[in-house]
Amino acid sequence: MNDLNFRAPKGTRDILWPDSARHQFLTEVFAEVVSEAGYTQVITPMFEHVEVFQRLGGATDVVRKEMYDFQDKGGRHLALRPEQTASVVRAFNEHRPAIPWKAWYTGPNFRYERSQKGRFRQFSQVGIEVLGVEDPYLDVEVMALAWRFYERLGLRQVKLELNSLGSKEDRNKFIDALQQHFTQSLSELSEESQKTLEVNPLRVLDSNREQDAHLISAAPSMLDFLSEDSEEHFTQVQEGLNSLNIPFSVNPKLVRGLDYYIRTAFEFISESFDAAQNAIGGGGRYDGLVEDLGGPSTPGVGFAIGTDRTLLACDAEKTFQMPEAAIEVFVVDVTGGMEALKLTTELRNAGFKTDRAWDNRSMKAQMKLADRSGALFAIIVGEEEVASDTVILRDLRESTGQSKITRETIQEDLRKRLR
Ligand code: AMP
Repeated sequence: MNDLNFRAPKGTRDILWPDSARHQFLTEVFAEVVSEAGYTQVITPMFEHVEVFQRLGGATDVVRKEMYDFQDKGGRHLALRPEQTASVVRAFNEHRPAIPWKAWYTGPNFRYERSQKGRFRQFSQVGIEVLGVEDPYLDVEVMALAWRFYERLGLRQVKLELNSLGSKEDRNKFIDALQQHFTQSLSELSEESQKTLEVNPLRVLDSNREQDAHLISAAPSMLDFLSEDSEEHFTQVQEGLNSLNIPFSVNPKLVRGLDYYIRTAFEFISESFDAAQNAIGGGGRYDGLVEDLGGPSTPGVGFAIGTDRTLLACDAEKTFQMPEAAIEVFVVDVTGGMEALKLTTELRNAGFKTDRAWDNRSMKAQMKLADRSGALFAIIVGEEEVASDTVILRDLRESTGQSKITRETIQEDLRKRLR
């Protein structure tokens, strides 16, 4: 014996049933919502050349501090993806699908973050990206699809916050103004925000330290720096949302963690839990990113929704409960197990969700397992049944419901009772 005691690494966790079923089910609902709107799935690698992510901007925490990068045995410098937009854009540049390219994705991302409730080092997202369209009404479509997805999950306490970060030029002017504003009163800023100011003045707006609150509320507003074009785009986005009756509030302080956003930026907040980690999804427009990654000038817009946090919101709102029990029929064979082998195969081939017991356990032990499996019916086979080509069919929801049926009619009988 040794004293090995392996645990999942910090910030990661095992997701067992029934939680795993909810994760899968959530992805299925998402796929349904977006494929109804013409989006097709893209599956990109979980790691890329580190430069792909570095193009997201050296000032973002995700790139600067949180990347899981490593050298492979061939000496390549690679990184586990911290998000999927960069990978999707890299794939677009590599394959040049026809535009508009409307893609959706799902899967894990990796960030070396301080782990806490709703913040993990490996977390899963579902998302969409559209490449090749400038139309502000596409921004609206994208947000509306996220909205519809939350609605399908039964979430009611979701708030949409919207901002425009203007064009690159608008934003640079705003960043200068912010820099000036915060530098004037530098000593009033928290030490952490002073450091943030050096690398990324926009992110100072994200600080929720009390000491910074006053200076942040007095900071210039992005909305005063929008060029005419950006303002027009922003107005159309808001009109589009209004026309679909999707409620939203404009939050000029919303900057998002990733630096590539141009014009539209948005975030979905769950009001059902107070944790600091209540952002359940977010996205925006990133018109320069395809070029930044070496492709032709192509606009882009999309979002990513955090699967883990969305499920926390579902828990808080008591919605999106577990799907029905997975097993319909449980075969109990007290003749050695061969009958169960044949029957389970037969029933599964006919489309019944079927399980069985192993190791030639006693009748009592097998019945216990049948109950635990959540199955609705047990099919019981003993020597007598084998001899007479029959089985016993027992309704597990009622202690009295039991009948002997011929083997030939099992499927017909089950179908009548189950469907
Ligand atoms: P981002 O890619 O940072 O825009 O994040 C999009 C969404 O992914 C967020 O709104 C969260 O729901 C989720 N998310 C981001 N980082 C994490 C994390 N470390 N753990 C769990 N969920 C996360």
